[in-house]
Amino acid sequence: MQYPEPLAKLIDSYMRLPGIGHKTAIRLAYFTVGMNKDDVKNFADALVSTKDKLKFCSICGNLTEEDPCEICRDPNRDRSKILVVEQSKDVMVMEQMKNYKGLYHVLHGVLSPIEGKGPEELNIKSLIKRLQKNESVNEVIIATNATPEGEATAMYLSKLIKPAGIKVTRLAHGLSVGSDIEYADNMTLYRAIKGRTQM
Ligand SMILES: [Zn+2]
Repeated sequence: MQYPEPLAKLIDSYMRLPGIGHKTAIRLAYFTVGMNKDDVKNFADALVSTKDKLKFCSICGNLTEEDPCEICRDPNRDRSKILVVEQSKDVMVMEQMKNYKGLYHVLHGVLSPIEGKGPEELNIKSLIKRLQKNESVNEVIIATNATPEGEATAMYLSKLIKPAGIKVTRLAHGLSVGSDIEYADNMTLYRAIKGRTQM
């Protein structure tokens, strides 16, 4: 006995999500079948509109509905600082801390020779362009994760940016080694930013 095709497709779709195994996918699929139609429709709409309506900000690379993004457009942000993160979700984590008022730059990954990710695959060129164009930036804070790849990326960026006479700092690691920014609590992040060190 095979699953009816729509159900099989749904199970297959759930299994493409990270951390979802076969059994969980089956459970979610049957749960979906039991949901009311409006909820299912809202769920499907949310999935589709994330793809349709979101794009990357042409300035900072953050996910946004409008380009440039809300942060890049905000006249009240401190334009002397750019905080560099690996992923868009790290911007949200930093924003929830509510203590950083500067700008951001999203790399969309880290240097990883194993995964064939070099500087060209990351959103680095636009960062350099931003720094060349915008003389008000006097500090770049590198907030890549405390993993070997994150550290290597921080070193690479520091070497690239420092000759331009811009201060490059790294988050202090009260963040433990190997830890991701997205799992840090607000207090730890606040301390990491406060105690950032010059590279
Ligand atoms: Zn932006």
